[in-house]
Amino acid sequence: MYLKTVKREKSLKKNSYKEGKATVYFDKEVFLNPHARLSRELSVAVVKAVGKKGMRLADPTAATGIRGIRYALETPVKDITLVDINRQAYLAARRNAKANGISCKIINDDIQHFCNVSKEHFDIIDLDPFGGVTPYVHDILRMCRDGTYFFATATDTAVLCGSKKSACIRLYDAVPMHNHLCHEGGIRILLGYIARHAAAYGFGIEPLLSVTYRTYMRVFTKLYHGSEKATAAIKNLGYAYYCQNCGLTRTSMTEFPDMLECPACGSRLIISGKMWLGRLFDENVRDKSLSNTNDSGLDGENRRLISLMKEELDIPMYYHVPTITKMLGIGSVSPHEVVKWLHAHGFKASLTHIHDSSVKSDCTIEDMKRCITSISKSAMRR
Ligand SMILES: [Zn+2]
Repeated sequence: MYLKTVKREKSLKKNSYKEGKATVYFDKEVFLNPHARLSRELSVAVVKAVGKKGMRLADPTAATGIRGIRYALETPVKDITLVDINRQAYLAARRNAKANGISCKIINDDIQHFCNVSKEHFDIIDLDPFGGVTPYVHDILRMCRDGTYFFATATDTAVLCGSKKSACIRLYDAVPMHNHLCHEGGIRILLGYIARHAAAYGFGIEPLLSVTYRTYMRVFTKLYHGSEKATAAIKNLGYAYYCQNCGLTRTSMTEFPDMLECPACGSRLIISGKMWLGRLFDENVRDKSLSNTNDSGLDGENRRLISLMKEELDIPMYYHVPTITKMLGIGSVSPHEVVKWLHAHGFKASLTHIHDSSVKSDCTIEDMKRCITSISKSAMRR
């Protein structure tokens, strides 16, 4: 018995991982993804921004417990419930909570069962399952009340971004984009799904922060109870349009698609939706959260993403600069120059963390082409 314990202690030390104020132990039976660090940093930052003492938080996909433990150690929220269906994960979470000196409720159960038998309500529910969220959203909504914060991560990005179109229609009841707009399309389809299902439970949603990075999309929302709130949220749903011929990019919050052909060139449009076309973030929460983010443990790519998010405009969709230069038959143009030119000509414009070399702006495709042509011409003159 003693030898077994010593062996266990040694293997734990070998498999320890430190992040933020937490140190957790894991083994090959309990999943810990160090690449999800950015997602956890942002989550801790959001809970620091919106969390208050006395709030109750549930993490029904706890795994090693790292996220919940970090919430307990680094945010004002101390009343934490961790749930995991996997027995080994449950044991690991218990061990890790103890090793980090925090006391939280740890339950070995599956999400649906937990949500349906639990009579508890939570102020913050953080859903981060393996794959998509669609099997769980209904059950989670049962535990929500007015003002609950609901965070969700989707890793079925191939579905949401259009590589598996029929799966997106089946699971999310939405037609995905399958071009340079696919990541924003995906995150908006995810929000649209949550908004529709929340509405069925009498909740309206308000996105606080939305992030898409590599293989995951994560949304932080707040729910408000009441049929008026639910109806108002649903009005943010609609369709995105893209013209492959001239680059026109447009969205409309309508019940049905209201354009089939491009109003600029008459080509058949690519149409995607229904999707959420309201805000992707709340400016106050975004600013507060991102300034809270401890980026000391993040790599250069993650830091760059956070700095892009800080400056990002909340305008649906964007223009991909290389696609437009190709359409115009001219050489490459820097997206930074595009933003500068647009600002100088009275437009709103920013880069976006969602897609490289892309610019969000309130300008039309004609203005964008004028901008890119002008930058290219002045570069040739130099
Ligand atoms: Zn067109």
